[in-house]
Amino acid sequence: MKLSVFGESPADEGAVRILVEAILGRPTEPISPPLESRGWPFLRNNLSKVIRHLMFSTETEALVVVTDADSSPIHHPDHEQAGSRYADCRLCCLRDIVEREQKQLSSDSLKIAIGLAVPSIEAWYLCGTDTRGSEAAWLQTEERKRNTMYRNRLKYAVYQTERPTLELEKRCATAAAQRLAQDISLLETHFPKGFGPLIKTIRTW
Ligand SMILES: [Zn+2]
Repeated sequence: MKLSVFGESPADEGAVRILVEAILGRPTEPISPPLESRGWPFLRNNLSKVIRHLMFSTETEALVVVTDADSSPIHHPDHEQAGSRYADCRLCCLRDIVEREQKQLSSDSLKIAIGLAVPSIEAWYLCGTDTRGSEAAWLQTEERKRNTMYRNRLKYAVYQTERPTLELEKRCATAAAQRLAQDISLLETHFPKGFGPLIKTIRTW
């Protein structure tokens, strides 16, 4: 399957691909050049363009989009009731963009799955090795402590520095993803709200 990953950092691209392959149980093929990745606003503002580019200029069959939640509200199944989407929920926001594009293009031939890393993808990388590696850990943290400092600590736990080089980021992300790929149910269990929707969609491919 020709798969594109649209995330917040080029380091996440490889790690997410490993996780997707573990879910699918088969290898994927990247498209060249890979998509540019640069944080949440870039991702939100460029998703429409990316969908059109992949559909019209590449042979991509599937797109996986993963964003960090940071301090935005966590997705909840209630958001999926008709008309009750949360504009501030990044997963709902991205779903809206995807649906709008598919409607405008009258096509859903490009398979698209979206994941929300709560509060950041480093929490996924820590799953199974650190008590902070779960959505529950984040939700149980007092609201006033759910800040950038918390996310920086997650970064530190993964990379041993808050300012990793891209090279280091890639190495740590890949190692974590390879470990998690051995038992993908770990992420499914500990990240039901943000990883749950991603795995659910990919399993239909
Ligand atoms: Zn939502």
